Amino acid sequence: MAQLIKMDSQSDKQSEQYYDEFLSYIRDHLTAFYQHYADDNGLTLAQTMTRVSKWDLEQWKQALDSLGDTSDWPEEAQNRLKIQTYVASINRQQLIGSVLALGIIGLTVKNQRTIEKRVESDGVDEVSHLKKALKLAPKQVKKTTSVITQVSSRKQWSANLWVDSDKLAGDVQYLVNQNLKHGLSLDNLPRLLEKHVNPNQFKPGQSIADRVEQMSYETKRLVRTESARLKYETDLATYRMKGVKWVKWLTEPGACSKCQGIAAGGPYAIDDVPEIPGDSHPNCRCSIVPYVKSMDNQQKTVKQYGLTQDEQAGVLRWVSGDSYKLNSVLREGNEPTGLLKTTMDELDSALAKLPRYNGYIQRSVDLSGQQLNDFLWKFNSSSYSSKQYLSFTKNADKYNGTAAVQLFIKESKGGHNLGAFNEAEGEVLYERGAEFRVLDTFVDKDNKFIIELGDDGHE
Ligand SMILES: [Zn+2]
Repeated sequence: MAQLIKMDSQSDKQSEQYYDEFLSYIRDHLTAFYQHYADDNGLTLAQTMTRVSKWDLEQWKQALDSLGDTSDWPEEAQNRLKIQTYVASINRQQLIGSVLALGIIGLTVKNQRTIEKRVESDGVDEVSHLKKALKLAPKQVKKTTSVITQVSSRKQWSANLWVDSDKLAGDVQYLVNQNLKHGLSLDNLPRLLEKHVNPNQFKPGQSIADRVEQMSYETKRLVRTESARLKYETDLATYRMKGVKWVKWLTEPGACSKCQGIAAGGPYAIDDVPEIPGDSHPNCRCSIVPYVKSMDNQQKTVKQYGLTQDEQAGVLRWVSGDSYKLNSVLREGNEPTGLLKTTMDELDSALAKLPRYNGYIQRSVDLSGQQLNDFLWKFNSSSYSSKQYLSFTKNADKYNGTAAVQLFIKESKGGHNLGAFNEAEGEVLYERGAEFRVLDTFVDKDNKFIIELGDDGHE
């Protein structure tokens, strides 16, 4: 989920860029018409209520050409382009409106593609998470993947996107016509295109930039909502396939009271669990996880060690998928941001409270090629410290015998027992930057690299 937030800001940036390009498109075209036709009163409706000239048509063609190759555009866009060809022939005013509409159609196509790509890649990420977390067989992975390629869910949101796009075109044309009524001048063009960052000055009814910004919010919300919907549907289908009977609602950090209420009402039978976003809200970033008996034991652990709600949520997000994402950020020496940072802070504070485990623990690492070399190189000294959280298992049956590298600690003292939070994996987790002694390294008869570590514990 924290990865989603990072992606959010990426696709947000992308859509900001599209909107800026669109605003310069409008500025350039309106300026061209102004410079060609304006008199002392500026560019007025009177000058535009006239037959389309050859020059006008050239402007329109240029606008169309600036959209690039439209042959592979979706049907919704193709249909609208056809209509605009007709509209542009009515008179000059309609033609100017049509130039604006072309820009908006182009913008919407870009947005539609961004959303599609983003939603699909989130879906793919979710499948790879589920594959690891639920140990899906290849056939099951295929089935789970089929959820994200179903087109039915795309249809509804793209229809909504085009309705919003038509409304935007109408509003932008109206704003331009209002200005033409009083004579559009180069002086009031900047005002018409001015962005207002201050919410008190935000005027989508007067500024094209603000009206476009409003659409930008809608698009961002659509991206988040659709991505969460797909994740939810993928999860649900996979849990059903794996025979999960009960699920628990996992709230996002800072979840609204509605979602907190839904979470408190759980666990839910899989057929009765509320839907995301249908039963929660647009922009919802909560998720569902299989409910297992150990969750009751989790409550005991929470009580016994005095974990706060946030600390508990941090551990739960760690065991239910954030571990891969958080560790890959840390491993590369980067500072987690947004909700991923929240998870890290909550986990850090939870680990400080969770008891240390004493006993034999092991860790399997499956790498090959250069990655394997790079990894082994780190143990070529008497001590080892890891930027990421280091996860071991205390359960002998969780030993992955086929992995290329096996690490073990005979008598661990410093790792934290996640106990009921990850009973299935018997996870023992070391905080970021934990220090180990490298006691022995060798290759065993099966050609596995064996590394014995020691930890001196922490008091
Ligand atoms: Zn929610």
